Amino acid sequence: MAELVPASFPDLIHRIRLENAREQAIFHLPQRKWWVPDPAGPDLSVSFHGHRAGTPVGPAAGPHTQMAQNLVLSWLAGSRIMELKTVQINDRLKIGRPCIDATTIGYNIEWSQELRIAEALREYVAGAMLIHMLIHGGILPNSPITSHATETIFDMSVGYDLAGISSAPIRAFIEQMKDAAAIVQQLRAEIPPELKALRDLDYPTRLSNSITLSTFHGCPADEIEKICTFLLCEMDCDVVVKMNPPMLGKERLEHLLHDVMGYTELRVNQSAYTSGLQFDEGVQLCGRLAAVAKSRGRGFGAKFSNTLEVENHRTFFPPDNRIQYLSGQPLHVITLTLAEEFRKAVGPDLLFTFSAGVDRQNFANMVACGFRPISVCTDLLRPGGYGRLPPYLATLVADMKRLGAAHVDAFVLNARPGRAADASGVIVRAAENLRAIADETRRDARYYAASNRKEPKRIESHLDTFDCITCDKCLPVCPNAANFLYTSEPERVAFTDLVVAGGELKPGASREIRVEREAQIANFADFCNDCGNCDTFCPEYDGPFIKKPNFFGSFGAWRAFEERDGFFVDADAPSPRMHGRVRGRTFLLEREMGWDGWRFEDGRVCVFIRAADHAVERWFAFGPSDASGHVVDMHAYHTMRILLGSVLRTDRVHQVNVNNVAIGSILSD
Ligand code: SF4
Ligand code: SF4
Repeated sequence: MAELVPASFPDLIHRIRLENAREQAIFHLPQRKWWVPDPAGPDLSVSFHGHRAGTPVGPAAGPHTQMAQNLVLSWLAGSRIMELKTVQINDRLKIGRPCIDATTIGYNIEWSQELRIAEALREYVAGAMLIHMLIHGGILPNSPITSHATETIFDMSVGYDLAGISSAPIRAFIEQMKDAAAIVQQLRAEIPPELKALRDLDYPTRLSNSITLSTFHGCPADEIEKICTFLLCEMDCDVVVKMNPPMLGKERLEHLLHDVMGYTELRVNQSAYTSGLQFDEGVQLCGRLAAVAKSRGRGFGAKFSNTLEVENHRTFFPPDNRIQYLSGQPLHVITLTLAEEFRKAVGPDLLFTFSAGVDRQNFANMVACGFRPISVCTDLLRPGGYGRLPPYLATLVADMKRLGAAHVDAFVLNARPGRAADASGVIVRAAENLRAIADETRRDARYYAASNRKEPKRIESHLDTFDCITCDKCLPVCPNAANFLYTSEPERVAFTDLVVAGGELKPGASREIRVEREAQIANFADFCNDCGNCDTFCPEYDGPFIKKPNFFGSFGAWRAFEERDGFFVDADAPSPRMHGRVRGRTFLLEREMGWDGWRFEDGRVCVFIRAADHAVERWFAFGPSDASGHVVDMHAYHTMRILLGSVLRTDRVHQVNVNNVAIGSILSD
């Protein structure tokens, strides 16, 4: 299984500016899918803990906020409040794979940051700096995206218990997010000298002062209160605490889940009802903590909600995961109901944030309910990925224009028909809206099981290294932009393997390799954590992240993940050179300087092959022992030859060739 490896900062910068300039896209998200604010349109900005954010939406702490490129993609799609992936003291997690099942409604078994704490910190700072470059660095000249609604808030998420959160490494993480000057300086020094204007930008160093707390499912109330008090009083942060769906109570929750929505196959983990924060405890706790926050001049709020623990009733996740975490459409109804009840109990003042089954159709309603921010995860895992977000904002803008609402508060006041606007009562009106919208939502059949049983269709075709129907679905559904498009020259070559016999290389089995399409898909393994989401939506069988060629970003990563087939293109070598692991065997392919041919090694023999006709020019065996009977896998040779030539082409920019494209662009300037 591969692990996430952050990209070098210069590679990310080059990728952003070159891909944008040449392909009008960034990390494969085309400009036409970005959210570009209308300077003459309504003001979508909201206040979160006293800070302004350009829009009320952002990715939830999860797969969409794990790496720097994810933050960039979120921002391009209109996110302005980024709930960063949860950081915890145990940063050596082993998570079962696949871990995301968005086939129908949304289940997962993933949880906190998979990067080490220091790597996560660096990714968050890098992401913030890249976004700052997009706004101020001249990469997107003369676009409203750089001049309107650019205010972006980074909200930390930490977990999971007091011992971990108050440990020295997590304290240091929080302190460095509050003052990231040292990391900003390190990254600034990594910006290539030819991009001096980007080096000289005034990057923000106070990255975040707020935390959304994630506790273990089942964490008791007094532990939650102690953690929040610690974060408010000792770490001096604004805090939002997550509420759990079972707080609604077994009878009400299961009535909604089974009787109203018809998800009769789902069994809630029964211990979830009794082991964690209870409704009344939550109400009292919020009252006390809001008072503590107020006394310290800090913000406090409640998030609706955590995922719902249900029994693993499918075969998608490894069977040793007894519990899976439910999100998507049913959670939307349950969480909205919980928020409605909680609002009745605590009154209109307490800040509520929301994340549960948000999509284009219900987003404006969530704004009308007064939630700030509204964060999204499951919907962005579906086809279109981050590109699904701009239509949320477009729908909100259309609704605001229809109601003549120039800003979000005016929208809240006028969102429901037949009510007179009264500027003094925005929070009261938001609470009224929540009641009405929760009631409508419970009666809306689009959240019911019968409307959410359709699985993505497969065609009777299996993926291979080259060629597929090139539907491109696997590109945007990857939260980390791991899958990429490259181009290849179609070709068909018949060949034989080579067998060492009597000191000679003799022809072995006859085989053929075929590349039929110019557009090809590959996977950048450093960005892939085997979550499985691209397999869910690929119409062909076997998974793009498994079957398509995996390229590692460094020799070290290629060597470390030896159970995974893949390749490493050595950009520092004087001539094109690639290490490969094919069906578990390792190979080296190198373009020979001085004659038109290849050097191909498989650890037992080294063969020099003419480029023009693939005939063997000469060969030798390594070591003193007789190599008789050894078979040289010429399919591996041709695969690597085609891949190396293709990924080094510069007609598409991706993570493997970005350095070459950057050097080429510098030389041609
Ligand atoms: S790998 Fe699958 S999802 Fe990706 S382009 Fe090919 S067919 Fe489409
Ligand atoms: S490439 Fe596929 S499996 Fe890998 S991280 Fe992306 S979506 Fe998940």
